[in-house]
Amino acid sequence: MNDEYYMREALLEAEKAFQIDEVPIGAVMVRNGEIIARGYNKRNTMKNPLCHAEIEIINKSSEIVGDWRLEDCTLYVTVEPCPMCAGAIVQARIPRVVFGTRNKKAGCAGSVLDVLNEPMLNHQVDVTEGVLLEECSSIMSTFFREFRKRMKEKKEKKEDEKCGCV
Ligand SMILES: [Zn+2]
Repeated sequence: MNDEYYMREALLEAEKAFQIDEVPIGAVMVRNGEIIARGYNKRNTMKNPLCHAEIEIINKSSEIVGDWRLEDCTLYVTVEPCPMCAGAIVQARIPRVVFGTRNKKAGCAGSVLDVLNEPMLNHQVDVTEGVLLEECSSIMSTFFREFRKRMKEKKEKKEDEKCGCV
């Protein structure tokens, strides 16, 4: 099994988020070649800003491993981790992270900050990026395109109602 195989599994999780109108980010945790946890963004569903895919699988993995240290795990996520998730990855001492596409506005594996490789912190992460880049990036752009379209339609409908033409 290679990185692409596991990223494809993370993409399946992202697809689940897409289906329920959540920003489509998915993740899987791999230990000794086996997927031990799967998760996807559920921020709206749970009405909780902490419910990112990475946090979900770190929680599940710690339970399975029976330790807060996830030292023999690799985390696969479709989008570059945000500050919270990058922090959690460092806290869990995860040695390796593989992500698909960059997040220019919030990414903390080099885009905005490089939390995963900050020499002043007590843990550094081996990062591989760009695995299934096209797929990971296009599911995001499709989501936001549809989201903006829906928002625009909603706004237009509201304005129509306001002027009494419906
Ligand atoms: Zn996050």
